[in-house]
Amino acid sequence: MMTTELSNIGNIIQTQRNFFQTGKTKDVNFRIEQLKNLKQAIIEHEKSIVEALQADLHKPEVETYLTEISVIKDIDYAIKHLQKWSKPKKAPVSFDFFSYSAKIYPEPLGVVLIIGPWNYPFQLIISPLVGAIAAGNCTIIKPSEIASHTSDVIAKIINKNFDPAYIAVVEGGVEASQKLLAEKFDHIFFTGGTAVGKIVMAAAAKYLTPVTLELGGKSPCIVDTDINLEHTVRRITWGKFINAGQTCIAPDYLLVNKKIKKDLIDGLGKCVKEFYGDNPANSPDYARIISQKHFDRLVNFLKDGEVIIGGETQPSECYIAPTVVDNVSLEDSVMQEEIFGPILPIIEYTDIAEAIALINSKSKPLALYLFSQNKNLQNRVLQETSSGGVCINDTVMQVGVSSLPFGGVGDSGIGNYHGKASFDTFSHNKSVLQNSFWLDLKWRYAPYQGKLPLIKKLLG
Ligand code: NAD
Repeated sequence: MMTTELSNIGNIIQTQRNFFQTGKTKDVNFRIEQLKNLKQAIIEHEKSIVEALQADLHKPEVETYLTEISVIKDIDYAIKHLQKWSKPKKAPVSFDFFSYSAKIYPEPLGVVLIIGPWNYPFQLIISPLVGAIAAGNCTIIKPSEIASHTSDVIAKIINKNFDPAYIAVVEGGVEASQKLLAEKFDHIFFTGGTAVGKIVMAAAAKYLTPVTLELGGKSPCIVDTDINLEHTVRRITWGKFINAGQTCIAPDYLLVNKKIKKDLIDGLGKCVKEFYGDNPANSPDYARIISQKHFDRLVNFLKDGEVIIGGETQPSECYIAPTVVDNVSLEDSVMQEEIFGPILPIIEYTDIAEAIALINSKSKPLALYLFSQNKNLQNRVLQETSSGGVCINDTVMQVGVSSLPFGGVGDSGIGNYHGKASFDTFSHNKSVLQNSFWLDLKWRYAPYQGKLPLIKKLLG
């Protein structure tokens, strides 16, 4: 089977609508079987996935297992809970509804579209797909053309194992995306930048299609003095430089208590050496920037402030060393745009109020990190800031917890997924109220004369 041709998009959607109408995807056993197929297909293609990510991002094999193939855990979680999630749930009714019963039936939406980015190009397509399958939908997926090797592997896995009437892949770039967005879907799940997110939402609005937008932004990382310094530097270094900083929830910049700044910088310098050696360019454990265009964008940021760790680049390899920058101004471009690369600016504060004010002066971030054991400070930051999620005393790990919905707020996104939230995102909760025939009280029927006192009492 070939990947869907662009001219064929209308047909494939119609074929999926026809398949959806057969009701096959409503069968929970069918969904579980498809999830098992998907898991098996990923296991069979592990080697190709590792190679594709190596070709696209120079992604180390360990990182590919940790952050891409790990999507298998999402599949296992969905298989384990699907029977329970998909069952109709009884809803309580109040006393005045005593002859009624109420239930909530989760039902699939229909034909859904998933559009993915290039940074975790496998997992950010497959993880939402798990939710779409679990909820009983037919799906069209559009992987990122920029991670082209991974896009090909995804197409291979899906085409080999699934009927396009059920799951189809459309490969390609902006043109493919726009052709898809011109069609009517029952839900669009988009992961990518805020600017493109607006285009997706505008296209969806034409058909009143609901959207989930998993976007980006600048995720701050506050470092207080009440910390274990060694653990803190390791967790920041890992979260910032994994995938060479091309992680939507990487700490974008540090807000550091002035008293601990010097120690933190010394610690980060040592830790970068410990992780990647004297010359990270030679480390097998350090990824590359996805493309020349993104490399050039990042190199421009190096003009801002003063490089205190790293700063080396190799254009031919799209290599940028793990870099820490001091003395940046808030007006510098590195503090205005999402960095999305291995450059970490440090901003110092003397009072936490300054750090909170800075965060609140910017768009609501996808993630907020706080390193501090001080409970009052933790509460204050939680109370006084808003973000998609928060992780205290660590970075990035929140993404791996299935019981935590993952998503942004404000400019960092709309909606969420992971675990049960993925199932909910791709389901409609149908409310069903049932009355019985053993009784028919007349208080609500005309003629109304004399009924007002009772109505007032009931409202009472
Ligand atoms: P992007 O927005 O450029 O592209 C994402 C997808 O949209 C790709 O499939 C692309 O082909 C398509 N696209 C690009 N331009 C389009 C257009 N004009 N019309 C229609 N479709 C278009 O994003 P990216 O560069 O691939 O990814 C980086 C961004 O994604 C960063 O901002 C990052 O923070 C964000 N991101 C967010 C999450 C999350 O979970 N919230 C995860 C990863 C990345």
